[in-house]
Amino acid sequence: MDTLAQPADTQTETIIDIQHLSKFFGEREVLKDINFSVNKGEVVSIIGSSGSGKSTLLRCINLLEKPSGGKIIFEGTNILEDMKDVNQHRTKMGMVFQSFNLFNNLDVLGNCIVGQMKVLKRSKEEATVKALKYLKLVGMDQFIHAKPKQLSGGQKQRVAIARALSMDPDVMLFDEPTSALDPEMVGDVLDVMKNLADSGLTMIIVTHEMDFARDVSDRVVFMDQGVIAEEGPPEQIFNNPKQERTKAFLRRTL
Ligand code: ADP
Ligand code: MG
Repeated sequence: MDTLAQPADTQTETIIDIQHLSKFFGEREVLKDINFSVNKGEVVSIIGSSGSGKSTLLRCINLLEKPSGGKIIFEGTNILEDMKDVNQHRTKMGMVFQSFNLFNNLDVLGNCIVGQMKVLKRSKEEATVKALKYLKLVGMDQFIHAKPKQLSGGQKQRVAIARALSMDPDVMLFDEPTSALDPEMVGDVLDVMKNLADSGLTMIIVTHEMDFARDVSDRVVFMDQGVIAEEGPPEQIFNNPKQERTKAFLRRTL
C-alpha cells in the first residue's frame, strides 16, 4: 500500500472544515447547524439511524446537494462561495455510493478511464496506467474487459472504488458502500477500505458496519435527526458514549 502513502506528518492539517451547515428540503431542516472538521489523513466514520441525514451530509460535502446555509471550507476555500468551480472541487473528492453507480455500457477499464479523460483531460494511455494501478490495488485487474452486469456486487463496488481513486482525489467519501452487498461480499470491500485507511488516505465513511468503524476510524461522528449528537474517538463512542441517544442507538445496533 505504499502507493498511496503520505509522509508521516506530526502537524495536523485541516482538509475539510464544515461550519454551521444546514440543509432544508422544502420546510424540513434535515441538517441543522453541523460543525465538524477532518484532518488530512484522518478516517472519520459517520453512524446513525436511517433518515438522520448522513447521506445528505456527504452529498452536501461534494455538492451533489446545495446546502441551505453555512460554510464548507475545503483545502482553504469556502466551496459554497465558489460554485463556479464545482467540478474542480468535485474531482478532488472521490465518492462511492451504496448502489455502485457504474456505467453499465462500459467495461471495467472504460469505467475507470472515462472520467480521467473527460474531466482531467488525461490521455487514454495515462488514464489506463492509472486505472490499472488501482484496479490491481482492489484486486480487479483480472476483470478489465468485464461489463458491470457480469460482476458480483462486491466486485462492482471494488471497481467503483478503483474508479474514484483513479481521479487522484484528496479525500474519499463512502456512503454505505457495503449495504447493498450479499454478506459474503462485504469482507472483500471492507478489506480494501481498511488498506486505504492504513495507507494514509483521508476518508469519510457512512457505515452500519460498527466493528469496521471501531477498527479503522480515528474519529466517529454519531448523527441523530439532522444534528451531530456526539463525536469522538471510537473507544469513547462505542465503549463509553456520553449521550443518551448514542447509547440508545448502539443498544439497537450492536
Ligand atoms: P440517512 O442517509 O442518514 O439515512 P438522508 O440524508 O438520506 O439520511 O435523509 C435525511 C432526511 O432527508 C430524511 O428524512 C429523508 O427523507 C430526507 N431527504 C433526503 N433526500 C431528500 C430529497 N431529495 N428530497 C426530500 N427529502 C429528502
Ligand atoms: Mg443514507
